[in-house]
Amino acid sequence: MDDRDEGVCVYAAIGANIGDPVQTLMDAVSRIGRHPEIRVDAASSVYRNPPIGPQDQPHFYNSVLALSTTLPPRGVLSAFLLIEKEFGRVRDIRWGPRTLDLDILIYGELIVCEPGLTIPHPRMLERSFVLIPLLDLKPSIQHPTQNESFQVLAGRVDRQDLERIDVSLIPEQG
Ligand code: ATP
Ligand code: CA
Ligand code: CA
Repeated sequence: MDDRDEGVCVYAAIGANIGDPVQTLMDAVSRIGRHPEIRVDAASSVYRNPPIGPQDQPHFYNSVLALSTTLPPRGVLSAFLLIEKEFGRVRDIRWGPRTLDLDILIYGELIVCEPGLTIPHPRMLERSFVLIPLLDLKPSIQHPTQNESFQVLAGRVDRQDLERIDVSLIPEQG
């Protein structure tokens, strides 16, 4: 997608905990940016945190991306599911280990509640590994249904297990 195309602003969570997770995140960001209808505008720092759900799996590496897209929400979801598959994602255990997970957090100011797609992501407010990286990108944005800024919402999560990793997922950001 061209720099001049407007599109809708989407925030997406990206995470991995098997293989070489940081390399996977970098490769996945580059892959997302090559999609003709998605542009990667920014990436937060990478954060390392313990798994949610089953504890007998490696730590996760997570980041949040600011994207622009001309796709509708279902189109973004399909693109994400396809890219996860390309990176070898298999779904077996809920919240189990994965080579790549891509979630839509926010799609403009849209609210979607349909089978297979809920936006804003329903569990994002409990997750420090989503809220803290979002603050790296844009603290002032409002949650579409909570009527509060992410700065306030992030103040309510326990960030003690979150470790910031000094790596950038977008080469130009350096
Ligand atoms: P969680 O959703 O709690 O982060 P998860 O990412 O491990 O868990 P998955 O197995 O990756 O869950 O996804 C299960 C299904 O969730 C997907 O196939 C998709 O249809 C659905 N889904 C609903 N809302 C969203 C969303 N906002 N972003 C991505 N997937 C979503
Ligand atoms: Ca997820
Ligand atoms: Ca997911």
